[in-house]
Amino acid sequence: MATAVVQPDSSVTGFVSKTGKLLINGKWVDAASGKTFATYNPATGEVLANVAAGDKEDIDRAVKAARAAFETGPWSKISPSERGRLLWKLADLLEGHTEEFAQLESLDNGKPLKVARAADVPLAVDHFRYYAGWATKIEGNTISLGLAKQGKFHAYTVREPVGVAGQIIPWNFPLLMAAWKLAPALSVGCTVILKPAEQTPLTALRLGELIMEAGFPEGVVNIVPGFGETAGAALAAHPDVDKIAFTGSTEVGKLIIHAAAGNLKKVSLELGGKSPNIILDDADIDAAIPGAASAIFFNQGQTCCAGSRLFIDKKIFDKVVDGVAQNASKIRIGQGFDPDVDMGPLVSEEQFNKVCGYLESGKQEGAKAVTGGARAGNRGYFVQPTVLINTTDTMKVVQEEIFGPVLTAIPFSDINEIAAKANNTEYGLAAGIWTRDIKKAHALASKLRAGTVWINCYNVFDASLPFGGYKQSGWGREMGHEVLKNYTEVKSVCAAL
Ligand code: ADP
Repeated sequence: MATAVVQPDSSVTGFVSKTGKLLINGKWVDAASGKTFATYNPATGEVLANVAAGDKEDIDRAVKAARAAFETGPWSKISPSERGRLLWKLADLLEGHTEEFAQLESLDNGKPLKVARAADVPLAVDHFRYYAGWATKIEGNTISLGLAKQGKFHAYTVREPVGVAGQIIPWNFPLLMAAWKLAPALSVGCTVILKPAEQTPLTALRLGELIMEAGFPEGVVNIVPGFGETAGAALAAHPDVDKIAFTGSTEVGKLIIHAAAGNLKKVSLELGGKSPNIILDDADIDAAIPGAASAIFFNQGQTCCAGSRLFIDKKIFDKVVDGVAQNASKIRIGQGFDPDVDMGPLVSEEQFNKVCGYLESGKQEGAKAVTGGARAGNRGYFVQPTVLINTTDTMKVVQEEIFGPVLTAIPFSDINEIAAKANNTEYGLAAGIWTRDIKKAHALASKLRAGTVWINCYNVFDASLPFGGYKQSGWGREMGHEVLKNYTEVKSVCAAL
């Protein structure tokens, strides 16, 4: 018997029925232009909510507020433990609203409600808690100077907040990406202007309400939804922003670098991927098959680290492909509020057209879909989980990031060649290895040019585990203690004795 579709809570329907505003200097305000934009429910293509469209003038106001908060406001004198307490309080508030945030995320992004409940919201809560702990542990070093300077100087380093941070985030994990960005910046004492993606601004705006409720002083967190080419570009280019942190496409990452060059603001980038997932012939096939399927199909394939190129030892190729295809065909597709659904729609018409374009190009270049290969249904932006075989190294579906539920399965015969094949991409975000042989696993891990290597698992995230890319997958790392470097400057202090 089919389970009943969940109805949104009244807090959620109430929130989406109001026009979303900008959070600037602790106040909710309209855009200076008075313009708004629509955010859509991707399961139906219908307008879900309207939101103020921030632009250059709003970014200017937000930067002024963030600058004042950083230089002279209460935040500039706050103790580290108080910063930690505020972050912890925010985590508690968010946790208390888990269902509301999960529903908003599912409506705006399309992902299944059960996934938002189990992954997006708890991971965001955990992120705020993890960085609440770091606030009191930002330390420098004492340094012994060499040569004839011994004993004549006292030298030490201090880590200070970089200042006003601009943060531009994508639509695939809207709340979680906001947490990834806000938590470390606030932990070390920066002030922030956050620009959510135009496709999915709602959870960031609701989070802004909780940020104010938690008691963060005005101007510390400013949230300016708007389009990339307007609000995003103005933030990246702003001469009074000290640091820009961006998560999104490699193409836009390059634009950010150019825009940031004006005042040489610090830049960190978490960009695209075309991650290899490698199954050796001695792998535990019963774990590797569902592992490979979820590595690509999780979040409708809309993860930057999706295991989109599956390399399989040719001895087990047919068996694994068959297993992954069976897994794919069992995935239940539908609107996120249906509890029986495993996969929702893609986020937007644009993404839907892009992914369908890749399916078409794969077909034209000679790839064969063993399962999927087309849209699902005829309403909303649903795409069938797809497994392609008979690909060649030069095909677009093998080289380019599709950002949808499309896997290319590629056989290999020589383990000594697999690292080179896996590394044959402009990206280097993540990789997976499936084997029972610990020596082979670590030897291969050392050869892979990727920021994360998962062994006998995939898509395991933790606030404590750094994440980011080699090559064109980015600059710097998110999460763990590594991200603290993105938001701090090191000052060397040297005193003559
Ligand atoms: P996608 O192509 O998957 O939508 P993008 O990289 O375009 O991903 O978007 C990620 C984020 O970057 C979004 O918040 C978007 O508004 C923003 N963005 C897009 N273009 C620009 C730009 N030229 N400058 C700054 N931000 C941008």
